[in-house]
Amino acid sequence: MGEGAKRTFLVSFSMFIGAHVSIAGGLPNAVARGVELECDAIQIFNQSSRAWKPQNHSDEAVFEFNEAIAESRIESVLIHAVYLINAASLEREVRSKSLQALKASLELGDRIGAAGVVLHPGSQKQEDYERCMEAAGETIAECLAETESCPLLLEDTAGAGGTLGRDISELARLVELGGADERIGLCLDCCHLLASGFEVRERDPLAELVDEVEVKIGLKRLRALHVNDSQMPLGSNRDRHASLGDGELGDRGLRVFLSEPRFDGLPAVLETPGPERSGPDAAEIRKARRLRREGRRNRKRKDAPAP
Ligand SMILES: [Zn+2]
Ligand SMILES: [Zn+2]
Repeated sequence: MGEGAKRTFLVSFSMFIGAHVSIAGGLPNAVARGVELECDAIQIFNQSSRAWKPQNHSDEAVFEFNEAIAESRIESVLIHAVYLINAASLEREVRSKSLQALKASLELGDRIGAAGVVLHPGSQKQEDYERCMEAAGETIAECLAETESCPLLLEDTAGAGGTLGRDISELARLVELGGADERIGLCLDCCHLLASGFEVRERDPLAELVDEVEVKIGLKRLRALHVNDSQMPLGSNRDRHASLGDGELGDRGLRVFLSEPRFDGLPAVLETPGPERSGPDAAEIRKARRLRREGRRNRKRKDAPAP
C-alpha cells in the first residue's frame, strides 16, 4: 500500500488519539514525549501558556521536530494558543498583544505543518456583547490575513463568565464574523460541551449536536477533538478536567462520544490531569482507544436488526 493509500485507509477508520505534551527543553522533546505516550496526535503550546513573552523556535529546532514527527507514529500536531489571548477584548493593549501571540502560533503552525492552532475565542468582560463578538471576528480575520495557511480552530467553551463560543450558534457567528475563511475550523471539547449543557454522553443528543454543527457551520470545519472527562456536572458552566472515567462523562459517556461516526479521522487529544497530575500517561491513552473500540462495537450491536 502506498503512502497515500495508507493515509486514506487510516483516516477513514481511525481517530488519531493522543495528548497535550510539554515542549520543555525544546520543540523536539515534545515528539519524544508523544512517542513515549504512544500518541497518534499531539498538542503543544508554542510558548509558556500563561505569559505573553513569545518564545522563538530556531530553524534547527523546527527541522529536528519535523524530522522526528516524520519518523514517528504521530499523524497530527495541534498547537494550543496561550490562555492570556482574548481576541474579543475591547482594550487596545490586550487586543494588540492577543493579535501578536496568535500570529506567532499560526506562524509556528506553518513551520511545523500543524493541523491547526486551537483558540478559545475570547471572553466578554463588562462590555457590550455585540462589540466583543465583532472584535473577536476582526482579530481572527486579521491573524489569518497576516499568516499563510495554518488553520485556526475555535474551541467551544464551558460557558463560564462571558466566555464566547459556548454553543454552536455562537461558534457559527464567530466563523462568519472572522470572514468564513476556509482556514477557520472547530475543535470540540467533550468536557466543555457537557459543562455547557450538552448531553454528549448519549447517542441521540450527541448526534443532534453534530447535526447542528453540520447545518450551521459545516462538518468540513470540524477538525479536532479534546477528550477530557469533567469534574463538573452537566450545565455547570465550569471547566474542570478529570481523567478519563473519573468524571461526569465516565467510561459510558466517553464510549458514546469517542465512537460518534462523524468524528472518524479527527485528531483527539487528552488534556487530563493524569495519575501524577502532570498529564495523561500511556495507559490512559490506551484506555481512550479501548473506549472508542467498545463504543463502536455497542453501536454496531444496537444497529443490527432484531432477530
Ligand atoms: Zn480543551
Ligand atoms: Zn478546558
